[in-house]
Amino acid sequence: MTIGFVGLGIMGTPMAANLLKAGHAVTGFDLSGERIEHLLARGGTGARSVAEAVADADLVITMLPDSPQVGEVVPEILEHARPGLLYLDMSTIRPQTSRWVAEQAAPRGVRALDAPVSGGERGAVDGTLSIMVGGAAEDFEAARPVLGTLGTTVVHVGPPGAGQTVKAANQLVVGGIYGLVAEAIVLLEASGVDPGAGLDVLAGGLAGSRILDLKRHSMIRREFAPGFRVDLHHKDMGIAVAAAREAGVSLPLTGQVAQLVAAARAQGHGSLDHSALLKVIERLNT
Ligand code: NAD
Repeated sequence: MTIGFVGLGIMGTPMAANLLKAGHAVTGFDLSGERIEHLLARGGTGARSVAEAVADADLVITMLPDSPQVGEVVPEILEHARPGLLYLDMSTIRPQTSRWVAEQAAPRGVRALDAPVSGGERGAVDGTLSIMVGGAAEDFEAARPVLGTLGTTVVHVGPPGAGQTVKAANQLVVGGIYGLVAEAIVLLEASGVDPGAGLDVLAGGLAGSRILDLKRHSMIRREFAPGFRVDLHHKDMGIAVAAAREAGVSLPLTGQVAQLVAAARAQGHGSLDHSALLKVIERLNT
C-alpha cells in the first residue's frame, strides 16, 4: 500500500519504520524537518506538507499529540484524499473529536477510524502495540492487515470514538496503579521494610500487574527517564475526566489520580516518566 504518515514523533517514527519493513511505501510529514530525516533514514519518503503526504495514499495515519493538532490537519487530509481513502487517527485524543472526524470524513467518501494505542515506545518499535479501534466494522476489516503490522492486540471496540473511550479507560487504570504502587513504596520504606522484597511478593500475587513487572525496580531506584511523559498523561487524564462528564458518570478515583498527575506537572516533573507520581506521594510525606 501507499501510506501517508503525519506526525513522526517518538511513536510515529518506529510505527512508520514497521510499515516500511512490511513492504509498504510510506510518505511522511512532520512540522519538524529533523523528524522527517529520521523517516528518510529508514527508507521512507519525505513530504513538504500534509497535502503531499496524502495525495497518492491508499491509507493515511496520523500520530499527533492531541485534539487541536488532529483538528488542524483533518481538513487538509480530507481535501486531498482519494475517494475511498482509509484514514486512521492513532493519536490519543478526545472521543468527541474522533466522532467529529468521522462525521467530516463520511461525506467525502473517506473511511475514518480512531485507533489509539497502548504499549509505549517499546511496543511501537517491536510492533507489539495494543490497538483499540472505533468505527465501522467493514472499515476495521479493511485496515486490519496494516494494524497487524503495528500491533499484536488489535480489537474493534465499537463506533467512532469508542477506541478513544477505551484508551481513556486504559489511562485511568494505568495512572491509578502507578499512584498505588507509589503509595506502597512510601509505606514500605517508612516502615523500615525493604521495598524491593516487598514489591517482589506483590508482583507474584493478586496485586501483580505489568506496571509492577516493568517498573518496580526503576521506581525504587528513583529512575524516571521517559517512557511516557507526565505531560502526556496529564492530557490523557483530562480526556478521561471530560469523557466521564460527557457520559454523566462519577469516577472519584479517576478525579484523584488526575489531581496527582496535575501535581506532578505543577512540581516541575512534566518531562519525567509518569512513574514519577512517586515524587508527588513522597512530597506529601516529607
Ligand atoms: P511526540 O510529541 O513525540 O510526536 C508528535 C509529533 O507530531 C511531533 O514530531 C510533532 O512535531 C508532530 N506534529 C505536531 N503537530 C503537527 C502538525 N500539525 N502537523 C504535522 N506534525 C505535527 O508524541 P508521541 O509520544 O509520538 O505521541 C503521539 C500520540 O501518541 C499522543 O497522542 C500520545 O498521547 C500517544 N501515545 C504515546 C505513547 C508514548 O509512550 N509516547 C504511548 C501511547 C500513546
